[in-house]
Amino acid sequence: MRKIKAKPLHLSHLNVHAGDTVKIIAGKDRGQQGRVERTFPRRELVLVEGHNIAKRHVKPTGGRPGGIIEKAMPLHVSNVMVICTNCSKPTRIAHDRVPQGEDQKVRTRRICKKCNEPIEEHAYTAKE
Ligand SMILES: [Zn+2]
Repeated sequence: MRKIKAKPLHLSHLNVHAGDTVKIIAGKDRGQQGRVERTFPRRELVLVEGHNIAKRHVKPTGGRPGGIIEKAMPLHVSNVMVICTNCSKPTRIAHDRVPQGEDQKVRTRRICKKCNEPIEEHAYTAKE
């Protein structure tokens, strides 16, 4: 994978958030869907659970045995599309600003470009 230079934090923003379901649109897992485990905004990468698997050869260290392990590698954000929580289609993201939350403060939220409904946020919790 090509090394991507880190952007300054104040210029880093992704439309994909941890907990989103995404469709992979490029690379070896093209066409598959998965859940975003982590995002790396400064490098514009997202880690999709169980996808883009690479084999790593690891040396034994301390109590951990060595060998070949399979590890999910992060994908570039441009290679995934968020799947809308309302219409279940892969979509681009729009934004709007409306009063929301308990305090009814004006905040930015993500909007599906296909059905114009807000996209729900899901906190990521790993499967056991
Ligand atoms: Zn939608």
